[in-house]
Amino acid sequence: MEDKYGRKIDYLRISVTDNCNLRCIYCMKENHNDFLSSDKKLTDNEIYRIVLESAKLGIKKIRFTGGEPLVRKDIMNLIGRINKIEGIEEIYLTTNGILLLDQVENLAANGVKGVNISLDSLKPDRFKTLTRRGELKKVLEVIDKCIEHNIKVKLNTVIIGDINQDEILDFVELTKQKAIDVRFIELMPIGQGKLFKPVKNTKILEIIKSEYKELAEINRNISEGPAKYIRVNNSLGRVGFISAISNCFCDYCNRIRITPDGFLKQCLHWNYGVDLRTLLRNGISNEELNNIIKNNIYNKPEKHLFNEQNKNEEIRFMNEIGG
Ligand code: SAM
Ligand code: SF4
Repeated sequence: MEDKYGRKIDYLRISVTDNCNLRCIYCMKENHNDFLSSDKKLTDNEIYRIVLESAKLGIKKIRFTGGEPLVRKDIMNLIGRINKIEGIEEIYLTTNGILLLDQVENLAANGVKGVNISLDSLKPDRFKTLTRRGELKKVLEVIDKCIEHNIKVKLNTVIIGDINQDEILDFVELTKQKAIDVRFIELMPIGQGKLFKPVKNTKILEIIKSEYKELAEINRNISEGPAKYIRVNNSLGRVGFISAISNCFCDYCNRIRITPDGFLKQCLHWNYGVDLRTLLRNGISNEELNNIIKNNIYNKPEKHLFNEQNKNEEIRFMNEIGG
C-alpha cells in the first residue's frame, strides 16, 4: 500500500532480538548486558501474526535483523514459517556473520535470498578492536560459503574518521575479486554512534574516483531502497552508498520496522508508531491488527531530521532497531 506521500511501502524489517554476540564500538557500550527478557520480546507466533496481516497490506519483502538475529533461539524455524506466508516474496537477513557458517544451508532451504553482512575492517586486529570480540576469519569464510550457495551477499561497511578510513579502497577491491556488493553506510548519530566522527559518503566517493578512472553510475532501483550504486572497472560486484546524513533518501523510503519488543516504527529516526505487543497480548483481532498496521503505514513521517535536534526523535540504540 501507499503512505500519504504516495510512497509504496512493501518492506518490513523485523528486529528479532536486541541481544548480540558482538559489541561494535559505534553501536553498543562494551559492558552492555541489559537486554530484553524473553517475556518482553515478541514470540514467534506474534511475529507471524504481524507478518500475516502486513502481507495482506502489500508487504512483500522481509528482513530479519537485530541485535544479532542468529542469537535468537530457533530463528530458522521462524524464517521457514514466514517464507510460507502468501504474498511474502523475498526474505533477507542482516547479520554480523559470526554464527552463520553452520546455517548457510538452512538459510538457502528456508528461502533466504540474500544476507547483508556487517564488516568494517579487513584487518584481523582492527576487526577485533571495532567489534570488541569478533574473529575476522569466520566472517570471510562465511562470505564465500554464501556465494557458493547462491545467497546474494552485500557487505555493510561503516567508515569512521581516524579508525578505518584507510581501508576504503581495500573494500572496493573486494568487489573486483568477488561477486558481492559493498555498501558504505554513513554513521548515524544513534546510540554510541554519537561519539564517533562520521565520514561523509561524498568524501568516500571522491577517494574512489581519484583511484579508479573507469567508473559507471548505476540507475537507482527503488526496490533496492536507499542505496546508490557504482561499478568500478567492470568489476563483479557493485559499490553502494547509503547516505542518511549527507543525502536524505526519504523520498525512496519503502519500509516500516518492528522492534524486538513489538513496537511498529514508522521511521528509523522518529519514535512514532504503535506498541503492537501490548495490543496482541490484550487479544486484538486480526482485523483490528490489520487496521492499525495500515494506519501506521499511511502516517509515516515525510523524512528524517537527523541534522536537527528534535522532540520525538528515537532514543533507542541501533541494536534495538536493527539498522
Ligand atoms: N548485528 C547485525 C549486524 O551487525 O549486521 C544486525 C544489526 S546491526 C544494528 C545493523 C547495521 O546497523 C549494521 O550494519 C551496523 O553497522 C549498523 N549500525 C549500527 N549502529 C550504527 C550507527 N550508529 N550508524 C550507522 N549504522 C549503524
Ligand atoms: Fe551487534 Fe550488529 Fe550492533 Fe555490531 S552492529 S554490536 S554486530 S548489533
